[in-house]
Order: sequence, then C-alpha cells, then structure tokens
Amino acid sequence: MKVGIVGGGIIGLAAGAELLRRGADVTVYDPAPDGGDGAWHVAAGMLAPGGESVFEFPQLERLLEASSRLWPEFAAALGDVGYDDAGTVGVALTADDVAEMAREWKHQKLSPLTGSQVRDLEPALSPRIRAGAHAPTERQVDPRRVVSALREILAGRLVRRNVADLSEVVADATVVAAGCGTAALTGLPIRPVKGQVLRLRGEPGLLRHVIDGAADGRHVYLVPRADGEVVVGATQEERTDRQPTAGGVHDLLRAALDLVPGLADHELAEVTVGHRPCTPDNAPIIGRLRDNVFVAAGHHRNGILLTPITARLVADLVLTGTADPIIDDFTPGRFGCA
Ligand SMILES: Cc1cc2nc3c(=O)[nH]c(=O)nc-3n(C[C@H](O)[C@H](O)[C@H](O)COP(=O)(O)OP(=O)(O)OC[C@H]3O[C@@H](n4cnc5c(N)ncnc54)[C@H](O)[C@@H]3O)c2cc1C
Repeated sequence: MKVGIVGGGIIGLAAGAELLRRGADVTVYDPAPDGGDGAWHVAAGMLAPGGESVFEFPQLERLLEASSRLWPEFAAALGDVGYDDAGTVGVALTADDVAEMAREWKHQKLSPLTGSQVRDLEPALSPRIRAGAHAPTERQVDPRRVVSALREILAGRLVRRNVADLSEVVADATVVAAGCGTAALTGLPIRPVKGQVLRLRGEPGLLRHVIDGAADGRHVYLVPRADGEVVVGATQEERTDRQPTAGGVHDLLRAALDLVPGLADHELAEVTVGHRPCTPDNAPIIGRLRDNVFVAAGHHRNGILLTPITARLVADLVLTGTADPIIDDFTPGRFGCA
C-alpha cells in the first residue's frame, strides 16, 4: 500500500516509521524536513501524563497514560534519544504558589514534601522554596534526537515539498500530520498557541530531575539533559508570530533563577519560539477524515508524549480500517468534520 504523509514533524515521522515497519510504501512530504519548523524542535520533551491540562478530560488522560506506557519500548527501538526516567520534582516558592501547585499534586495523588525534603532530592534548589512533591514515574526525552532517529529510519522517503492541496498527494492513503498546517489543508479547527523556550548550557549534573514549579505566580519547567543543557519553558500565548520577546524571556529567566540560583552561571544558548497545534477541547484529532484521508494532528502540549500511541493508532487504521476503541473520543467527527 502506498501511503503519503503530509508533515514530517514528530507525529508524521513516527506514523511513517510504524507504517514502513508494517510493510507500507511510505513517502513523507515536508517543506523543511531537516529543520526547525515544527513544534518538536522547540518542545522540552517532558513525558508527563498527569499535567493540569487534562483535569477536565478523563479520556485524554487515559490516552496520555497509554502512550506513556509505550515510551520505554518506543525509545529503546530508536537508540539513544535522551530518554530519562529520573522523574519530576514539583516545587513552589511562595504561599500562593503552594496553593496553586497543591491542586496539581493532589490530582496526581502525590504526597507533599517540605522545602528541605525537596532540597534533599535536588540540592541546587533555592532555600526559599516552601514545598514540593516528587513524581517518580514522569520521564523526559530529547525530541530533536527522536526526530533525527526517525528521519534515519525514513531516509530516502522524505520529499522536501509544501503540500498546498491534498489532491497533490497520489497514494492509496494520505495521512495529514502537518501540525498547525493541518487547518489550512482540512478545515479542522486547529490553532497555533505560541510558546517561547530557552536553552541554557553549563556543567552537567546541576539538576538530576525535571523541575516543574511556580515562582511568584510564574509557572516554569526546567528539563536537564545529560550533556549539561537545561531547557526552560514555556510561555503560552494566543499569538501566531515567531518573535521572542523581552517580557517572555525575562519571565522564564526570572522564574528559573528564583528556583535554581546556580543557573545564573549557565550560557544562554538558545531562545526559540514554536506553536502548539491546539484544538477547541485541547485533545488531539486522530482518525479518518474521509475515504482514504486520515488525520493525526492537534496534539497541543502533549504531542511528544502522544507520539508512540498516535503512530500505532494511525498505522492500525490505515492498514486494517480499525483501531483500538481508545481512538473513538478523538475523531475529526467531534468537530462536525467527517
Ligand atoms: C514551547 C513548546 C513546548 C512543548 N513541550 C512539550 C513537552 O514537553 N512534551 C510534549 O509532549 N509536548 C510538548 N510540546 C508539544 C509538541 O511539540 C507538539 O504537540 C508536537 O510537536 C506536535 O507534533 P506534530 O508533528 O503534529 O507537529 P509539528 O511538530 O509542529 O510538525 C508539523 C510539521 O508539518 C509540516 N507542515 C506544515 N504544513 C505543511 C504542509 N502544508 N505540507 C507539508 N508539511 C507541512 C511542518 O513543516 C512541520 O515539520 C511543546 C510545544 C511547544 C511549542
């Protein structure tokens, strides 16, 4: 079966790799296949199924958890992609921050820790931190390394081309996985939500866990990589431009340094801007759009986490016509399409 995939971001590539593994003849179309256009290039790579965004949508929480369970095997098949299971330490600086974060910790059924207990886990944390919680099952991965491993699997099948209309793709089945570009191709309600992210570089080992916290009302996460990089994210703005702003960078840096003062000596190596592909209910769209056209898009804040399950569901649907019923809550039909 010939399958054309529109979009060579993390979702399109993972679906393509899974279809190829199961015997399909895959071609992936993307105008910028080596590089920086997709949200994956900016994403921190936290694999955190219990985040606040899913409070009101239990079916999404189930999908996130199911994908989280697939990650160890998915990462192992790709080689060294920075997969790390040290877990997350949640932290709160002020009394108001404790009140805000406690809601999230309660939802995740985590036991609260005192400031000194969180510093036992992460000695680089500020002595001003009042409270925290340890989420030992959360994980992280480096999305750039995942994409580069997937691109290697699909070598020779990547075509550098922008698809302006789906009729340009000649295949037995077409999968639209174009992130924010999916709206123009399908009419589905997917809008870009801007996020600014910093990459700091310093000596490895300052932090062991992902830090997810609030500092004076500013929400921030710090994702440390083994090579000394620390990803600091992220703003969340209803904007379509790609400009980093002084205010965005200031807020992220201020919160990061309030929580981990030792980061002041790190190099500010990158400031990047990406757009999360967001739907009206914050959940992805995975399913058949019409006849032989399928869609896998709108993964919003959790597209890296949702990559393995999306790839599997898309491959099942394209090759067999059916997929696990977990997909039923995420069809394009819920927005009146298909
Ligand atoms: C600041 C930020 C932080 C994030 N952090 C995390 C995180 O920690 N954990 C997590 O799970 N998720 C995170 N995400 C979300 C995650 O990055 C996205 O959900 C995910 O990248 C979506 O993958 P995608 O392949 O659908 O889209 P993208 O990664 O955006 O890729 C879409 C691709 O489609 C191509 N394309 C677009 N239009 C066309 C067209 N017409 N023809 C051909 N190709 C086209 C683009 O060039 C691009 O390469 C974050 C996102 C942002 C912005």
